[in-house]
Amino acid sequence: MKVEGRCHCGKIRYEAEVDAGKVLICHCTDCQTLSGSAFRTVVPSNAGSLRLLSGTSRVYVKTAEIGRRRMQTCCANCGSPIYSATGDGDTKVVGLRVGTIRQRDQLIPSDQYWVHSLRPWLQHLARIKKGKSSRASTPKAGGLNADRQPLRCDRSHFTVETAIPCALACRRKSRFTSIASA
Ligand SMILES: [Zn+2]
Ligand SMILES: [Zn+2]
Repeated sequence: MKVEGRCHCGKIRYEAEVDAGKVLICHCTDCQTLSGSAFRTVVPSNAGSLRLLSGTSRVYVKTAEIGRRRMQTCCANCGSPIYSATGDGDTKVVGLRVGTIRQRDQLIPSDQYWVHSLRPWLQHLARIKKGKSSRASTPKAGGLNADRQPLRCDRSHFTVETAIPCALACRRKSRFTSIASA
């Protein structure tokens, strides 16, 4: 599928082709540090499909414990991680950071790596209290409406229990309103 991505400040914009069946989670400690989060979600670009449309990236080459070098690219302005590539800078196939992709509701991980450094509390994520600032109208991670509240898309086409059928039906993936709050 074709995807479009951008960094947080919007200076970097890109498009690429990806296989939605190849989305993976990496729990390695490098990904935790480099993302500033508990894990990283990545999808490889199809060979030669990445097109940078605007912006300037900054490159950091990390050397993993096992000695393998890997190029890490982020926005030079806002620091959003954009992709990784081989240590010698070959960008034919890159590891796109799924959080920068507009179509991320459709990019659901099917595999996870480095699970020996998985943060143990992730196993209990669904049970952690959800603060008042969480918007009930936002589809949950992976496009699933984990609370199973009724939703409708912003064209009111469709009332659904999960975001996925609606996204497939009307392609309005990002804006759903809770029937309860509408
Ligand atoms: Zn930026
Ligand atoms: Zn990793």
